[in-house]
Amino acid sequence: HQPPLAYQRILLKLSGEALMGPGAGGIDVATLNRIASDIAEAVELGAEVCLVVGGGNIYRGLAGAAQGMDRVSGDFMGMLATVLNGLALGSALEDKGCSARVMSAIPMPTVCEPFIRPVALQHLEKGRIVVLAGGTGNPFFTTDTAAALRAAEMNCNALFKATQVDGVYTADPKLVPDAERYDALSFHEVLEKDLRIMDGPAIALARDNKIPIVVFSLKEKGGLAGVLQGRGAFTTIG
Ligand code: UDP
Repeated sequence: HQPPLAYQRILLKLSGEALMGPGAGGIDVATLNRIASDIAEAVELGAEVCLVVGGGNIYRGLAGAAQGMDRVSGDFMGMLATVLNGLALGSALEDKGCSARVMSAIPMPTVCEPFIRPVALQHLEKGRIVVLAGGTGNPFFTTDTAAALRAAEMNCNALFKATQVDGVYTADPKLVPDAERYDALSFHEVLEKDLRIMDGPAIALARDNKIPIVVFSLKEKGGLAGVLQGRGAFTTIG
């Protein structure tokens, strides 16, 4: 008999860069498989998992706009990039023996399911992982905001934000060796100290819907399962 998890239903936000591994862009298959096995481990513990993945390893609308490209076209290209990552994650999860469904905010029915909330909720109840691709489906948003939005829609108990470091620090731990990690922060402190954990709309959605944000690192194998069991280093914002 396993002790109860800290959070039963989570939304895990992965940036596109998390899939890049040591490369400068694109998808590193070894890294993809590592992350998939960490997610599979969490599911084996009994967690219900929704995934939102970014697209920054492939394309960002703002990068195109900076070079003079139309922002809206660029944003749609970025949203399509998240579908590429979502398909990769979905198939890597299936390879690990999980049941996963990729759903896109931009309907493309021959590629994956469209995002339909009641269908997504049913998938979760059947123990499937839902990979929510395509961001919010709207330009001028980010996948951080999509993550907070879907966490609320999918009745998640927490929004897990995977980052390069194992939590939120008083300063950049890569630059300031004696920087300290916060165990807990309030949404008010995050805004007051201007800690850029997620973008403003994402923080506001999580705060207004009382969904705690757990900032942790996926770098160490088993990190996700550890946090769900209350072990290891992380910062909780609530
Ligand atoms: N994007 C968008 N609307 C959304 C989500 C994403 O237009 O709801 C676009 C936007 O251009 C963004 C790109 O998709 O730059 C990739 O997403 P994001 O930058 O959030 O990815 P991450 O930084 O997490 O890899």
